[in-house]
Amino acid sequence: MANSTFYKELVTDHNLHPAHKHHIDGANLTLEGVNPSCGDDIIINLKVDDNDKIVDGAFEGDGCAISQASADMMMDLIIGKSKDEALHLADIFLRMIKGSITDEEKDELEEAGVLQDVSHMPARVKCAVLGWHTIQEMFGEENEKAKEEAAAK
Ligand code: ZN
Repeated sequence: MANSTFYKELVTDHNLHPAHKHHIDGANLTLEGVNPSCGDDIIINLKVDDNDKIVDGAFEGDGCAISQASADMMMDLIIGKSKDEALHLADIFLRMIKGSITDEEKDELEEAGVLQDVSHMPARVKCAVLGWHTIQEMFGEENEKAKEEAAAK
């Protein structure tokens, strides 16, 4: 059960002291992610340079402890990485929640690996994946929408 205590402590810590929950100026990708089943509503802002590197990022909005902690941990991981690396991590995270990753892949997620516990909590799965789904959309088909939202700010 040591792992479960660790999980609770980390989720609590990221809610009390989120490192990346604030506003940033000059974001060129903005997208809102909503999880109606819980009421989580977050807005991800990213600054991506010409080489597709995520040079800065932050999130705003409200939601439950798991959605907020997951978004904060995600920002820790993806700032400084390329868009492709971020998508690679999102793929691992989403597979982790569905319960199928290797130990090596879990290591790549660093702290966010503790959210593997959520795979045993079906009601919280959408909370944990919200931020990750949002960046997948940003970098995927919805790219134009994310640019428009950033430009409209
Ligand atoms: Zn939630």
